[in-house]
Amino acid sequence: MQPTGPLHIGHYLGVLKNYVKLQEDYSAYFMVANLHALTVFYTEYKKAHAFISPLVSDWLAAGLDPEKAVLFVQSDVPAHSELYTILSMYTPVSWLMRNPTYKEKQDNMDKDIDSHGFLGYPVLQAADILLYRPEFVPIGEDQLPHLELTREIARRFNYYNAEGGPLLSEPKALLSEFPKVTGTDGRKMSKSYGNVINLADSQEELSQKLKGMKTDTNRVRRNDPGTPENCPVFSYYDFFLPAEKEEVAESCRTASIGCKDCKQNVLEQLLQTLEPFRAQRVKCQSNPERINEILSAGADKAKNTARDTMNDLSNAMGLIKNYTL
Ligand code: SF4
Repeated sequence: MQPTGPLHIGHYLGVLKNYVKLQEDYSAYFMVANLHALTVFYTEYKKAHAFISPLVSDWLAAGLDPEKAVLFVQSDVPAHSELYTILSMYTPVSWLMRNPTYKEKQDNMDKDIDSHGFLGYPVLQAADILLYRPEFVPIGEDQLPHLELTREIARRFNYYNAEGGPLLSEPKALLSEFPKVTGTDGRKMSKSYGNVINLADSQEELSQKLKGMKTDTNRVRRNDPGTPENCPVFSYYDFFLPAEKEEVAESCRTASIGCKDCKQNVLEQLLQTLEPFRAQRVKCQSNPERINEILSAGADKAKNTARDTMNDLSNAMGLIKNYTL
């Protein structure tokens, strides 16, 4: 997860809840991808750095447990950059150019991200994964092409360093349900679109955002019947008020409920759902020393695994320190 801004409810509902389940069944690694954040924050990295501690507080508040999973920051494990350099040499540029996210992000960002690093970020992503020789990567269906690229890079590396069997694993997708949360403008909730409801938003901010949320554009007047399926607010009933979903859909279609009341229902439930998380979050943030300790211990564990991989790779490739051989 990149430290590019405060987390929003899309992260909480769609990702963090899932991570918490995964740590129970797998030996899991969760990484703050601060080097990836450089693709956007390359002129002002300190801004991204300041998001790391709050991000980890959010992880802990959501239930990630450093006793069960490895929590660490990418740049604390230099092997990520080392493996990235090596894998870059095995990755044809044409593979990177066909990455659909490359074009999409460039079109949607109001910042110049036309850099070598941005083109090559899938290789860094491959290094992040392959360094731990995992069996699975928990992803949503839309990320399958990215994982396939990682598998292709691993396969190509293994092909050219075949002696002694494959060195890098070709991890499989652990298809996880990461429900997509709609943003206030009806598009997918994303920091880059500026349509997010942040976990740290005050009650007043949450209320303003809900009030300003788009609804079915056909409901111009209170008496106009609506089509709930066309309304981003309605999608929140899935998360916060599933039991009332059918009833409110009918009320919307018959115009027996106004958008103001409909939004108020969501707001109240949103506040109630987030309350325990928010309380826990404040507690975690008040103890930055603990966060530092957790990340430091996590980096040590990650380094141990990474060192084994890099030793095997270095030996196989001949990148060893004895220059008199
Ligand atoms: S009543 Fe609710 S579901 Fe219907 S358009 Fe208004 S906000 Fe959306």
